[in-house]
Amino acid sequence: MVIKINCPVCDRPGVEEDYCPNCETDLSLPRMLMALPVAAAPQKSRVWWQTGIAVLLMSLGIGIGCAGSAIVSSSTPPNSIKTAAIANKVAPPQPVMQTKECGGFRYRVRSGDGVSDLAWQFYGDSALGEKIIEANPQLKERVDSLQIDEMILIPNREESCL
Ligand SMILES: [Zn+2]
Repeated sequence: MVIKINCPVCDRPGVEEDYCPNCETDLSLPRMLMALPVAAAPQKSRVWWQTGIAVLLMSLGIGIGCAGSAIVSSSTPPNSIKTAAIANKVAPPQPVMQTKECGGFRYRVRSGDGVSDLAWQFYGDSALGEKIIEANPQLKERVDSLQIDEMILIPNREESCL
């Protein structure tokens, strides 16, 4: 099979003979040289294509894999650590505040304090002095004579005991 080539000397296209009919250049050698790259070129480019696609797919896969693991590692563990830390910070203060079943706080009696005064001060209702006396049985006999610096329990209002 004769390969048509362009004459390298006069640029005549499609020469089938061993000699250029235009300039009579010997075209057997250029034809041989042309035949080799023409046969080799498609193979080379196909290999490049396949390698390129393979590399592309590999890097895509690696990229997706990295992104996926990055999302997983960045989202789940730090969040659970954070919530655990918050839970630890929020939880402890509450049991410390609760002194009895119903909760309440210790109050140091000051000069001039009376049970009804404290009830007014802490509950906004002086009639609730009864609650303070119930929480401090030692006061039953001397409701009107609290001692300065005496520690008494001021119970929480009932609604905060629920
Ligand atoms: Zn020629």
